[in-house]
Amino acid sequence: MSFESLGLAPFLLRALSEQGYETPTPIQQQAIPLVLEGHDLLAGAQTGTGKTAAFGLPLLQHLGTAPQAVGHGPRKPRVLVLTPTRELATQVHDSLRGYGKHLRIPSAVIYGGVGMGNQLDALRRGVDLLVACPGRLIDHMERRSVDLSGIEVLVLDEADRMLDMGFLPSIKRILAKLPKQNRQTLLFSATFPESIKQLAMEFMRNPRQVQVTPQNTVAENISHRVHPVDAARKRELLLHLLAADARVQTLVFAKTKHGSDKLATFLEKSGVQAAAIHGNKSQGQRQRALGDFKSGKVKVLVATDIAARGIDIDQLPRVINYDLPMVAEDYVHRIGRTGRNGSSGEALSLVSQEDAKLLRQIVRLLDRDMEIRDLPGFEPQVPIRWGNSAPGKAEVPGGERAPRKPGGGRGRRPHAGGGDGQRHAHAGAKSHGGPREAARKPAEAGRGRRRGGGNPGGGGPRRDATR
Ligand code: AMP
Repeated sequence: MSFESLGLAPFLLRALSEQGYETPTPIQQQAIPLVLEGHDLLAGAQTGTGKTAAFGLPLLQHLGTAPQAVGHGPRKPRVLVLTPTRELATQVHDSLRGYGKHLRIPSAVIYGGVGMGNQLDALRRGVDLLVACPGRLIDHMERRSVDLSGIEVLVLDEADRMLDMGFLPSIKRILAKLPKQNRQTLLFSATFPESIKQLAMEFMRNPRQVQVTPQNTVAENISHRVHPVDAARKRELLLHLLAADARVQTLVFAKTKHGSDKLATFLEKSGVQAAAIHGNKSQGQRQRALGDFKSGKVKVLVATDIAARGIDIDQLPRVINYDLPMVAEDYVHRIGRTGRNGSSGEALSLVSQEDAKLLRQIVRLLDRDMEIRDLPGFEPQVPIRWGNSAPGKAEVPGGERAPRKPGGGRGRRPHAGGGDGQRHAHAGAKSHGGPREAARKPAEAGRGRRRGGGNPGGGGPRRDATR
């Protein structure tokens, strides 16, 4: 399928070919014709799927071909794209300017943490296209420096993340100021929790739905590996993993801003070029860190979930979860940055006893196996208890209870797969008639895994091997 066949105008086709885009990605193939027809759209797509062009190309076509409604007074924005973070806003704006380079579309990007002056100037001059983060947009609404009554198309990009970040009230305030009639609304989200569905029901008209990755799954070409380790030795293990191949660009996730700073400093002191990116950094610092990482000047970027949101790095080969995300869905977002465009990626998680519960939630959400591999010299002093002894809560990765005795050798671990301590965490409990049943049937669970094409030595992701 070609971009031409999607019905895009020559001025966009030219820009695309200049950028070297040859074929539309799956989300572009599905979304572009629907948006061009004027439908509201609910799109399930992660960063890295080409979602920006999926909404950007048809909305630029609309701006370039549909005349502006004649009105009085200064030019009002016609298209509004809302994004959760400044980085994503800048990125989306830059991408749209690239796709629209043969059009003259005045645009502005609006986010907090920087002075108001430039934004006010741009709004005063008048724009057709506005990319904004909700908080700063509300500031402008309160100052009456922006008039949203002429919006024809609204895009909610990474809607799940906007809600996670507490933007729902702001989004509702913004929506209340938009025209209700003849407005087209496009909502892009990696996941579809109930809150998103409600938002869609309330504010969208008969939306068409497209989905490029099944809900809550990550690309198939990513290997997920868990390294058990004592919390106190995580740093050492991280250094060991990074040193094993110092050339691999690696995004490391930490739980807190302070933690990411400390970790980046530790890595720098240990001879690894690293930078940290999080919400306490100034806009300039964040952009510098991201730029240095993209250019390869630093090999390791340590980030918090929120700061990393929407970071656009092509074909990032490795993500390391130094801390597991507090919310299982964030694992999907984190890993969405690797294995793009069919390239293979690696997702490593350093998991201590404190993280075992979070890992269980992730395994259940993904409904896929994860290889658990002890690294010689870093085995936890007390083997990690993956399960939960409470009756009825016995659902554990691996579908059974792992040994609890201190010092329990590998031989006693039900999932030991070979001499190097490999085993698999998987979401088999769901498919075995409930957690308790699964917990009582280790042998059966084991058979299922083999039937599923177990790969004890390789450790690639395997989908739902117990079915
Ligand atoms: P996005 O998911 O919008 O953040 O896009 C991810 C990356 O894919 C960006 O670097 C885009 O420039 C690139 N991209 C988007 N669509 C295409 C395409 N059809 N062909 C090649 N690259 C693309």
